[in-house]
Amino acid sequence: MTCYRALVFSLDPELWAVFSTSTSAYAFVALLGALWGSFGNVCIYRWPPSDEFPHGRSVVAPGSHCFECGADVRWYDNVPLLSYLWLRGACRDCKASFSPRYLLVEGAAAMLFVAAYHYVVAIAFISSSPWEQLLRFAILACFLWVLLIITFIDLDHQLILDKLTYPAIPIFYGLGLLLPAASVGTGLVGIAAGYVVVRIISDGFWLLAGREGMGYGDGKLLAIIGALYGWKAVIVSLFLGAFVGTIVSISMLALTRGRSTEADSEGERLGRVAVPFGPFLATAAVVYVFIEDDLEIYLAPLW
Ligand SMILES: [Zn+2]
Repeated sequence: MTCYRALVFSLDPELWAVFSTSTSAYAFVALLGALWGSFGNVCIYRWPPSDEFPHGRSVVAPGSHCFECGADVRWYDNVPLLSYLWLRGACRDCKASFSPRYLLVEGAAAMLFVAAYHYVVAIAFISSSPWEQLLRFAILACFLWVLLIITFIDLDHQLILDKLTYPAIPIFYGLGLLLPAASVGTGLVGIAAGYVVVRIISDGFWLLAGREGMGYGDGKLLAIIGALYGWKAVIVSLFLGAFVGTIVSISMLALTRGRSTEADSEGERLGRVAVPFGPFLATAAVVYVFIEDDLEIYLAPLW
């Protein structure tokens, strides 16, 4: 007990070093991630515009309910990860099944939070002060959570929402300034790099090919990445995202070609499949934040 009190009131570095790498600390972070993932599911489902709600819906009210019978989800059935498992993915009242996506998003958030925490306290900032470690973890976790939300909304709707990116850009720029050794210019250059690069690619593609290759939303997503991590993160995310995105698009094209006899969309008839780029950019950014230090060594001669 004294140990915990000392920890809370002074964050003694030695006590913190012992506590921060304990199993209970990791378990707590995983739970925190699952809870944020649970809230993330609500955002992914309610934020995008629909025919009925052109501006999306509130993520606060009404509470979660079954889409089939409308019954409210009971508070004891609203436990992240676990309730899905004990209800076997179905409504308690009408037994309509819930998408396993809810479980996937909660699990992904829990894993991302644990990875972020481990990276900060046990790998990259192992000798930083406890408060700095906590601050870095909080910022990284927020960043990964936003990328997760953007990824799933983009997968569902081929849309990166302005109401998410517009606040996120200044927020992450501001959060970046809280970190030690932050410079005022890095984030600003990163924001500009992200947006301008996509404008050039997008408008250029439009002029050359007469159709949209990359949306401005992708530029706003890159601007979020640049706001926190600077222009190098923008470049790496763009190239890594494009590389993986191309491989996946080609394989999907090959698969759908082999299967469908009838072209059911204009894109398919023209030999294209609509694959949103946002998830690849977001995935590349996630990779970047965890290998930033190593990359710096290899890419240093280039920049
Ligand atoms: Zn139901």
